Amino acid sequence: MVLNRKIKVGDEVESKCTKCKKITFHTVESMDGDNILKVICKVCGSKHKYRPPKKEKEKKKTLSEKRILKKAKENEEKWLELISDISEEDAKPYLISGSYEVGDLIEHPKFGKGYVSEIVGNKMVVTFKDGDRKLIFNTEKK
Ligand SMILES: [Zn+2]
Repeated sequence: MVLNRKIKVGDEVESKCTKCKKITFHTVESMDGDNILKVICKVCGSKHKYRPPKKEKEKKKTLSEKRILKKAKENEEKWLELISDISEEDAKPYLISGSYEVGDLIEHPKFGKGYVSEIVGNKMVVTFKDGDRKLIFNTEKK
């Protein structure tokens, strides 16, 4: 990626060109340390201040990251609420051969404490701190 590369005079960068009214390739004409000062548009040849292309993609990413964070927080709250009524001593270790019921608290070696919120056949939906997971269980009884 361009990000890790040090840009120097003569390099090609993307910049917004006011004359072309779009993002075009520019040649770096002058710099101040790591900051690009002036660039020359490769399309129209005009010399102007460096205008980095708008970081719309990054903005979107930040937004979705926020959403993910919000969701994670909501999930954590839901999880806390679900497990808060159950004492830790009642937590059952998760075993693939084990038998569980809705409302059980299980202790998963990898995902931690989980609340059994749904059971369908030999699959159960367990709410963990970081989200719901489907786990199989009771496989030996079949
Ligand atoms: Zn231009």
